[in-house]
Amino acid sequence: MRSEKPSAEPGAPVAAGMIPLSVPFLGGREWEYVKECLDTNFVSSVGPFVDRFERELAARVGAAHAVAAVNGTAALHVALRVAGVRADDEVLVSTLTFIAPVNAIRYLGAVPVFIDAEPEHLMMDVGTVAEYLTRDCVRRNGSTYNRKTGRRVAAIVPVHILGHPVDMDAILALTEGSGIAVVEDATESLGSLYKGRAVGTIGDIGCFSFNGNKLITTGGGGMLVTNNERLARHAKYLTTQAKDDAVEFIHGEVGYNYRLTNVLAAIGCAQLERLDDHIASKLATAARYDAAFAEVPGIRTPIVAPWAKSVQWLFTVLVDRDEFGIGSRELMGVLQEQGIQSRPLWQPMHLSPSQADLPRRGCPVAERLNRDALSLPCSVGMTREDQERVVQAIMAVAPGARARSRRFPLRAG
Ligand SMILES: *Cc1c(COP(=O)(O)O)cnc(C)c1O
Repeated sequence: MRSEKPSAEPGAPVAAGMIPLSVPFLGGREWEYVKECLDTNFVSSVGPFVDRFERELAARVGAAHAVAAVNGTAALHVALRVAGVRADDEVLVSTLTFIAPVNAIRYLGAVPVFIDAEPEHLMMDVGTVAEYLTRDCVRRNGSTYNRKTGRRVAAIVPVHILGHPVDMDAILALTEGSGIAVVEDATESLGSLYKGRAVGTIGDIGCFSFNGNKLITTGGGGMLVTNNERLARHAKYLTTQAKDDAVEFIHGEVGYNYRLTNVLAAIGCAQLERLDDHIASKLATAARYDAAFAEVPGIRTPIVAPWAKSVQWLFTVLVDRDEFGIGSRELMGVLQEQGIQSRPLWQPMHLSPSQADLPRRGCPVAERLNRDALSLPCSVGMTREDQERVVQAIMAVAPGARARSRRFPLRAG
């Protein structure tokens, strides 16, 4: 039931017959709910689906409050602001991430401090965070300051990339009593669990995205969740132009027009009803790939931490050029020729030209992961035939490929 003309996000439109990386799956009551918006004239940012989407998403992840936003980047922007991040503060953030949380930090005039990834699960390396906070920083009156720059460290943004959680207990232990707010970027990991708790609900605030390629989509949309009522109220206020008096147009702060519309929230409600099916589909594809590549030298499939339940949002392998014979970018080319879309991970933020004004910190693990990582097609609803095509295409170039591909398929996913 994939939409007839899937257009892959991110990146260029995918030609017909091509297997896209990750496209939306609109298989629930989306039409029905959108029709209800049009029939009732509730198309704008006031309407029952906005409230319902907030309520149901909060309930789903077990948060007390949720505030919808136009996209995940906007949610992060507001989350950081209500968490107290101001101009010239430092904010720790994963270097191996899509750029959105870094942009949000910079919108506030704050200074990102890029934290390397750990090589096992590819998440923010808590050892590097510990080293930074103990060696480079000092605590004074319940706040933390960078010894060299004198700047306050206002927040940390662990990014739960690819559907896998960051080690949050370590982050919480390191930041306890430090005055550092914990803002989780859970945009790629809706439904993932850290020691049984939903990611996004462990720090002070968590953010989700409903962009086209995420676990559930509203085309574009976002949400922040928190258990802190004051933060939630402030966030809602800021997303609606900080309006004190709607009749007289009195505004108490510089706010934003960041509210999600009722039409998009309607799609979100329908998508959220299918979240478990979407996760099941992602896990099935991951299991299929895991089984297929288990014995392929030079292909490392994702390692899920024992304390984690990953939703496997984007199935990403590491390609060891020496062992596999070709590197990740060459493999991407081979797949492209066979109508299969794949993608490297993001350029690490400490290398991004957009951050060239900041002092460089070495993040060697993220650089190696960027060189080796390749994300494979894993759209919700991906067929077994398509999975098989991807597997066969990779097996065909694997060392000793011919012998192995005759034995294929190894086992059911
Ligand atoms: C998708 C994403 C976001 C939010 O993106 P939007 O397109 O603004 O919804 C934020 N952080 C990460 C890591 C993401 O992958």
